[in-house]
Amino acid sequence: MVVGAGVAGLCVALAAAPRPVILVSRSRGPSGTASAMAQGGIAAAVGPGDEAVCHAADTLVAGACHNDVGAVLDLALSAPGAIDWLVSLGVPFDRGSNGMLSLGREGGHDRARIVHAGGDATGREIMKVLCTAVFASSHVHWLAGNTLEAIGLSAGGRVAAVRVRDSAGRVEPLQAADLVLATGGIGGLFTCTTNPEGSDGAGLALALAAGAKGRDLEFIQWHPTAFAVPSGRHLPLITEALRGAGAELVDDEGNRLMRGTHPLGDLAPRDVVARCLWRHRQAGRRVWLDARKLLEPAWHQFPGVLATCAEQGIDPRRELIPVTPAVHFHMGGIAVDPQGNSNLPGLHAVGEVACSGVHGANRLASNSLLEGVVCGHALGARLGKSGGRGGSAARWVDAGAVPTPAVGRSLSAMLTDALGPLRSGRTLAAAVDAIGADPAMACSWQGRLALRMLVPALARTRSLGAHFRVDSAANHNIRQGIETDAYGEIA
Ligand SMILES: Cc1cc2nc3c(=O)[nH]c(=O)nc-3n(C[C@H](O)[C@H](O)[C@H](O)COP(=O)(O)OP(=O)(O)OC[C@H]3O[C@@H](n4cnc5c(N)ncnc54)[C@H](O)[C@@H]3O)c2cc1C
Repeated sequence: MVVGAGVAGLCVALAAAPRPVILVSRSRGPSGTASAMAQGGIAAAVGPGDEAVCHAADTLVAGACHNDVGAVLDLALSAPGAIDWLVSLGVPFDRGSNGMLSLGREGGHDRARIVHAGGDATGREIMKVLCTAVFASSHVHWLAGNTLEAIGLSAGGRVAAVRVRDSAGRVEPLQAADLVLATGGIGGLFTCTTNPEGSDGAGLALALAAGAKGRDLEFIQWHPTAFAVPSGRHLPLITEALRGAGAELVDDEGNRLMRGTHPLGDLAPRDVVARCLWRHRQAGRRVWLDARKLLEPAWHQFPGVLATCAEQGIDPRRELIPVTPAVHFHMGGIAVDPQGNSNLPGLHAVGEVACSGVHGANRLASNSLLEGVVCGHALGARLGKSGGRGGSAARWVDAGAVPTPAVGRSLSAMLTDALGPLRSGRTLAAAVDAIGADPAMACSWQGRLALRMLVPALARTRSLGAHFRVDSAANHNIRQGIETDAYGEIA
């Protein structure tokens, strides 16, 4: 049983052949997944002179060396093979006139290393091909329009079954010999996010409630450049690749915001850029992306940006794009070993909902589609070789009550404030206390999940990667454990 049909879940399902797979997801096809929204692409050391160790080194730098080195090396070494596999399935990656893969550059990478398709439509192109392959696979039964709502455990504490609810509200128990959670991220818990609505953290909350261990739950990546649309919590993303192509972050007066802030300037790691922009926004100032210097041919790579801007009545070739940091990616998740197993027998996790230690304290750009493909394929291939049947559940676990909309809204606002790009012990402690003091919040599944992120963030008093404590006693301008210029923020 695979729950979630983003890049990670689809790769598990495909690679598990011929073992029968039930694939549960809220929608059929790519819609509703973060995977389909991915713009930048997939990182892989496939360019001339590039090597997996260089990719791994950049991943460790971005992750503030909080990563598992073995997992990072495995991922970087597997990346070229993953690209080959996707090509063999039919993903039309962009190529130059010489037939070689075109490579883009994103923040934190020391060179152009990002393979892309359809310009800035990489996720959509990959998802189209993976969905087509799944539709053609007789071993996969896709149960779309269903939400996972409970896990059934056997008397021995092993996963034995799940309960799903369809769009008409009908609840069905299903046996599950092995349960793979691939339910994506948590952006929907916050007031501003680049994630789709389905990335609400419900899968993570349920796994934790069932007894799975969490890891690094306090590490949340904010993307510096979501489109600052006045209304709504789900904001369109303005890809970092635009900065890779020469766009610059500026203030109202046109001053370059990242100049003198970090040696990599506009292409500094995301957490560094997000903090700089957040400070400006908190001071009541606006921030902009200036892409007006890009020459006309460069815009062919960004049809998605042009379309997003056009929807808001902006022509980025002549006008500035208003941007804001927004929650983008959860580095933490269900703790899994290198094979994708959680501590709960029969429960596996992959993709953004999992934490294998590969991203450390801050994910390197374009490493998550890669993780979904590499780890999803490996987990599916392994589970495909095992057997077993589900059983009957001795005990059902759900994540907790659903809060009222008003409670949900105040929880979101509190979380956004406390777990933003700039954190302090005072706001973190206030959020923990407020949840504890309100039974409606404390009993809700969002409230329980919020505490699982807030408590370790409060306990981690020193800054590390995306977790930045403004009240850190230590010199929080230098990442813990690393002492080179590449990691320091100048201001
Ligand atoms: C706008 C945007 C741009 C990005 N760009 C890039 C990029 O260029 N490169 C890169 O590497 N990464 C990028 N990322 C990150 C990357 O897209 C995601 O981390 C990755 O795709 C997550 O894949 P996934 O399979 O784990 O989850 P998803 O693709 O989000 O899929 C989750 C699936 O789980 C289902 N689901 C969730 N909860 C339940 C439930 N309770 N019951 C049933 N089904 C459920 C959903 O319906 C969905 O099918 C981007 C993310 C966003 C939001």
